[in-house]
Amino acid sequence: MAMEGYQELETLMQQDKGECKMISGSCLCGGVKYDITGEIGAIVHCHCPTCRKTHATAFSSVANVTLDGLTFTQGQGLLKHFESSSGKKRYFCSHCGSHIYAKRDDQDHFKLRLGTLDGDPQLEQGHHIWLSEKAPWYDIDEVCQLPRFETWAE
Ligand SMILES: [Zn+2]
Ligand SMILES: [Zn+2]
Repeated sequence: MAMEGYQELETLMQQDKGECKMISGSCLCGGVKYDITGEIGAIVHCHCPTCRKTHATAFSSVANVTLDGLTFTQGQGLLKHFESSSGKKRYFCSHCGSHIYAKRDDQDHFKLRLGTLDGDPQLEQGHHIWLSEKAPWYDIDEVCQLPRFETWAE
């Protein structure tokens, strides 16, 4: 069943002249590993205070994945969750703390935490949400003008 806004897995796998390439990810310690085996949505950057606290960052980058589209290949037993609001559970590696996905009881998809992806999945660019609640120290226009370095600042 194709959902609107999702990319077909087939399209995602048509990289490198038709060679199949699986999208996969892992937590920081490597204990948890997963494959994306279904459809995945566009990239959404969420600036809400709950995401900021959860990830200890200015915003969280996520994409919807269908319920049958996330397959753990290792360490699913390491996952613990925190219920940040009623029915919304945020799953993370209990060893290293990497957040992997969130799931609301009444939703038919996972929200995958894109920082845990390995490689370039070539996902569609989506949008920013909850800018009304963004970190006061993060200016969405100003950050684009900042000096850039490939590694540490010189
Ligand atoms: Zn881990
Ligand atoms: Zn959020």
